[in-house]
Formats: sequence, structure tokens, C-alpha cells
Amino acid sequence: MRLRNIPAAADAIANSKYCILNYTEHKGHWHEIFGSNHPIAMEIGMGKGRFLMDLAALHPDINYIGVERYGSVLYRALQKMDENPLPNVRFLCINAEILPEIFEAGELDQIYLNFSDPWPKDRHAKRRLTSREFLARYDQILKKDGHLEFKTDNRPLFDFSLEEVKEAGWNLDAYTYDLHHDDKMNQGNIMTEYEEKFSSIGNPICKMIISREKR
Ligand code: SAH
Repeated sequence: MRLRNIPAAADAIANSKYCILNYTEHKGHWHEIFGSNHPIAMEIGMGKGRFLMDLAALHPDINYIGVERYGSVLYRALQKMDENPLPNVRFLCINAEILPEIFEAGELDQIYLNFSDPWPKDRHAKRRLTSREFLARYDQILKKDGHLEFKTDNRPLFDFSLEEVKEAGWNLDAYTYDLHHDDKMNQGNIMTEYEEKFSSIGNPICKMIISREKR
């Protein structure tokens, strides 16, 4: 997702108390940002943040960090926070590549990836958020028994991701090629903006849950 450059976005991000700018200073101390020891969950590539904020409203005992690389997109999330502030939500305007520089080993309890950019060209495979390179980054920051959940309507990206999960030695705990018709996996499902858009034109939604705890 990339929106037209919005001049107000840079200002809003610089001045929002929800957007953490001096992020490298909090490595190992993210709990202090929230003022609680509650678990920390992260959505990487959160877009306008609807999924993250719906989840945060439902789970006040979990702290949420939304990561989005484009300020013009994150700006929409900041506008929503102004209308309906959530004390357990913060945002980072960064490229997810640098996450291991910002979080200590095991500092995150849960990671969500929703409708990540497919980067269809082979030579861009490393940029896919489910590539082995990114799984290695998550391995550094996700606690040992933490889980990662990934949803997409893009079947080639999903199939690629299944291969990468195997290659990286993660466990495939559950998966479906049609989430909305899978009663078990769809229970309590929170729709993302892209999920609503793509399922409304008939695309089935794929989902996987992965972890690396030894079984
Ligand atoms: N999760 C939302 C948006 C999906 S679009 C939804 O399901 O509705 C994917 C988003 O991920 C885009 O907004 C894009 O800017 C962001 N993104 C892609 N690669 C990223 C990266 N490396 N770091 C941070 N954000 C990224």
C-alpha cells in the first residue's frame, strides 16, 4: 500500500505520542513504553491499522505495536487513534528489516503479517516478509514459544511461504487455503482492510500459524 504523499503526515508522525521515533533507545525496555508487563504483539505492514486497532480494543491486556514503512499510510492510523485513542497501541514507521536492531531477543510474544506485498519477481524474494531472511529476523526477536500468523489471498506468495517455513525449520502449526470456510481457524477472525476487499470479490483467504518451539 502506498498513498499519495501527504505533507501533513510527516508533521503528524513527528508530533504523535503514539508513534515512537527514538526506537533504538527502547531495545530490551519496550514494556516501559506501555507502562505494563503485558505481552507485546506486533503487526508488520499494518497499513491503515484497522486489524491492529480492532484487536487492541478487544484485548486491553495485550500491548500492540504496528509497523508500517510509509508515513502516508501510517498517517491514516494516527487519525483513527485521535478519534478513538487506545492506550495499548504504538506505531513504528520503519522498514521491518531493522527490527532486530530495535528489539531484544524474545521481546515479542506474537507477530502478525497480513496481506504482505507479494514482490512477484524472483530477484525480489528476499523482500517478501515471509522469506527465510525475514523469518531469521523474527527468530531473533520473537520469544521461544511465540507464534506468527500470516494471512493472504495471494496463492503464489502463500505457497512460497510454506516452502520458506520448512526451509527455515519452523513448525507449521495450522494452515488453510480458505479461512472463511474453515470453522476452526476462522473462529474469532478479525478482518483486515485488504481481507475485506479481496474476499468481497471472491478471493479465498489463506492463513498459516507457525512457531519454532520444539515438539
Ligand atoms: N495489513 C494491512 C495492509 C496490507 S498492505 C491489511 O491487511 O489490510 C501491506 C503493507 O505492508 C503496506 O502498507 C506496506 O507499505 C507495508 N510493508 C511492506 N513491506 C514492509 C516492510 N519491509 N516494512 C514495513 N512495512 C512494510
